[in-house]
Amino acid sequence: MNKLTIDDLKLKDKRVLVRVDFNVPLNEKKEVADDTRIVESLPTIKKILGEGGKAILMSHLGRPKGKDPNLNLALVAKKLEKLLGKPVKFVSDCIGPMVEKAVSELKPGECLLLENLRFYPQEEKNDPEFAKSLAKLGDVYVNDAFGTAHRAHASTEGVTKYFKECAAGYLMQKELKYLSMALSQPKRPFVAILGGSKISGKIDVIKNLMDKVDTLLIGGGMAFTFYKALGKEVGTSLVEVDKIELAKEILQEADKKKIDLELPLDFVIAPEATEDATTKVVDKDNIPAGWKGLDIGPKTEELFKQKIRKANTIVWNGPMGVFEVEKFARGTMEVAKELAEVTRKNAVTIVGGGDSVAALVKANLEKKMTHVSTGGGASLEFLEGKTLPGIAALTDKK
Ligand code: AMP
Repeated sequence: MNKLTIDDLKLKDKRVLVRVDFNVPLNEKKEVADDTRIVESLPTIKKILGEGGKAILMSHLGRPKGKDPNLNLALVAKKLEKLLGKPVKFVSDCIGPMVEKAVSELKPGECLLLENLRFYPQEEKNDPEFAKSLAKLGDVYVNDAFGTAHRAHASTEGVTKYFKECAAGYLMQKELKYLSMALSQPKRPFVAILGGSKISGKIDVIKNLMDKVDTLLIGGGMAFTFYKALGKEVGTSLVEVDKIELAKEILQEADKKKIDLELPLDFVIAPEATEDATTKVVDKDNIPAGWKGLDIGPKTEELFKQKIRKANTIVWNGPMGVFEVEKFARGTMEVAKELAEVTRKNAVTIVGGGDSVAALVKANLEKKMTHVSTGGGASLEFLEGKTLPGIAALTDKK
């Protein structure tokens, strides 16, 4: 990476303004339901504190419309305190005199978390005045929030204009290391597994990966638009009628580029995606009228597993079926298990996208992958080949 990293900064006695991604899921009791993102930010925070810097942490949480007490970051400060094993101060605003005072009282080796940035609409509007008020709080800036790097917001982009040194934190570096390794120098064979509901959400990823992968495995709802493009009957399965032409183009391109593009051979079908639905397994050519394809079938599972076993680099984004419903979760879980198995045998496995990560967590396999991205949207945009504004805005290495 040709950007400054936290290791390039002098941190001692400095006020280090850090954009972290503490946008964590909360449960009904308003507790942190999954602390992965907090845990992943610890190396950067510990580095600053260990070097005698003052860590001023800022993040958003959820999508508040104004100041929403349910999306208050104080509860995250408590969680961070536990994980860090050190006191974490909290201030109930993110700009202004009260915050400036709290920052001025910080001692080297201390940590302060600011209130939810999105309590101010100026954050998402990338308002220069708001960015300037944030910038006043630090001497140097570190961005460790990969999950919001695809957004040009005040705390990820605007703020960088007021600092001489803007560096990537350790989590940001880790995310970029694995994702760029896959795109620029994958150990071959390189297999991408794409699933999820629609082609439309992943079309740019498919196009970008077509120039890089050896094999593309397509599962999930998007498979049916491809089959429609091939003239097959797909019952009441999910089809994006306006994307049929696009699906045809992708199939032709895969042919031209000699990419091994595999669609499911069979499906688990049902009239509806409910837990008590009657299910059947049918070949791809035999989906009856009134039935929906809701998961890949056993033949497809075997085919996909074979391809995964031969691969040295695998990127996975999107479930193979409606995995939220137990009856249609098997294909996704089998893919997850096979990925864990090949990771153990030294293949590089990279999983991105909220739903695939949720499936891994459900299967308790998230620790068995080479890298699980903390950024759903950001990892997708990265795989699309886009420049992420939060990364572009960091200082270039001399
Ligand atoms: P995405 O956000 O595009 O990655 O899509 C994830 C969603 O796709 C999940 O909620 C799955 O339930 C859904 N999905 C996967 N396979 C199918 C399918 N065959 N039919 C309808 N929805 C599906």
